[in-house]
Amino acid sequence: MSSDSTVLIFLGPPGAGKGTQAARLAADLGLRKISTGDILRAHVARGSELGKQVKPIMERGDLVPDELILAIIREELSGMPQVRVIFDGFPRTTQQALALDELLADISAPVDAALLLEVDEAELVGRMLQRAKMEGRSDDNEETIKRRLQVYREQTQPLIEYYRERGVLKTVDGLGDPGQVYCRIREAL
Ligand code: AMP
Repeated sequence: MSSDSTVLIFLGPPGAGKGTQAARLAADLGLRKISTGDILRAHVARGSELGKQVKPIMERGDLVPDELILAIIREELSGMPQVRVIFDGFPRTTQQALALDELLADISAPVDAALLLEVDEAELVGRMLQRAKMEGRSDDNEETIKRRLQVYREQTQPLIEYYRERGVLKTVDGLGDPGQVYCRIREAL
């Protein structure tokens, strides 16, 4: 990793544990976690204009338009004296990945690693239904879960190749308890 910036990306299907692992890694490495899903949910909760716009999209399990996501990312990165971040749930499309590379090129902060958390689909559905009970996320119902998995396969999975080609992909087995998965992540880095 370059000494003055750190950029990590968490890739993986919904329910793979990206948010949990990213939070722990951010705390341990002193990085800022930027979760586009959390930022969007906060907008929905406070009923902002953006929140009103994205609520139905999120409830369907579809992706929010790239321009809206990129505006959020630009704002999050602006004014950061040093870019030390973990992206959780971003990028999710090739266009977002290309735009991120451009943004990072401007500030000479390359992507250090894209961590892919691999979990099979049957396990994912179970985890998300469980999360629905614990957190009451409105997009954790069976129909939306199916849609989110389909969207992941169609729009986000191509990013695995994107980062593999750039030599920064690290694949981690996401099965098992969160502590075990975290150890694998630390080893991979
Ligand atoms: P997450 O919490 O990351 O699973 O995100 C929840 C929902 O927010 C997704 O199903 C999308 O509707 C939306 N979302 C979050 N991040 C992005 C992104 N990078 N691009 C497009 N939509 C996003």
